[in-house]
Amino acid sequence: MLKIGCHLSVSKGFLPMGKDAVKIGANTMQFFTRNPRGSKAKDIDPEDISAFLEFCKENGISHFLAHAPYTLNPCSANPETRVFAKETMGDDLKRLELLGGCMYNFHPGSHTGQGAKTGIEQIVDMLNSILTKEQSTVVLLETMAGKGSEIGRSFEELKAIIDKVELKDKIGVCLDTCHIHDGGYDIVNDLDGVIQEFDKVIGLSYLKAIHLNDSMNPLGAHKDRHEKIGKGYIGLDAFEQIINHPALCNLPFYLETPNELPGYAEEIEKLQKLFTF
Ligand code: FE
Ligand code: FE
Ligand code: ZN
Repeated sequence: MLKIGCHLSVSKGFLPMGKDAVKIGANTMQFFTRNPRGSKAKDIDPEDISAFLEFCKENGISHFLAHAPYTLNPCSANPETRVFAKETMGDDLKRLELLGGCMYNFHPGSHTGQGAKTGIEQIVDMLNSILTKEQSTVVLLETMAGKGSEIGRSFEELKAIIDKVELKDKIGVCLDTCHIHDGGYDIVNDLDGVIQEFDKVIGLSYLKAIHLNDSMNPLGAHKDRHEKIGKGYIGLDAFEQIINHPALCNLPFYLETPNELPGYAEEIEKLQKLFTF
């Protein structure tokens, strides 16, 4: 069985989200830790969490991936924005301990004119100040499409961050297929080459999760517009290769395609049928 789910809403609570996952045939899921625009987090209800964990265990759901609000920018030129990102992520990591053993994905940020080198230093500073030996959550840097001044447009930029993170067992990478295709990595015609490149530059042991999205734009477009699976420039054949690749097939996959629940259910069923392991 492929480990596959999608981005789900947790606004009605954790248990209702778990039930949504079962409804669409998912065995994993991603959710925002708070409003994606980064407002105050709702208090977590411990009873809801324990009912959710129990429900997930009964239904074979695992590998929860929390996504940081996408407005956080740990490498903004504005110091207040950087402090806000650090405090919000620190708070998210504390709250995630209630779930235990999650992954927490974030966009490394945009250097807003300071240059990639300074941006990378600021991201590293933040990570080294919030990661703790005791935490059970692994924090993932997401590969980015390279819009504007985004950091994480290349494997080299992610490697430069990881190199300076002190707690190496608390850090990993989430590879977004739309983003790396937009970033110029040709996963359609040279998937093996891209995976070898990832291994050479970062190391496959850091790859913990895949965001499975088609792209509305051609290779190298740096646009970041997700498309439904098989309907964009990546195409269904490439997704069949990706989910069945020996270096990737055991990872959890998360859809972030433009769908409501029935559309996600269809994509999950389609991909599960294409999975040959
Ligand atoms: Fe993301
Ligand atoms: Fe993504
Ligand atoms: Zn995206």
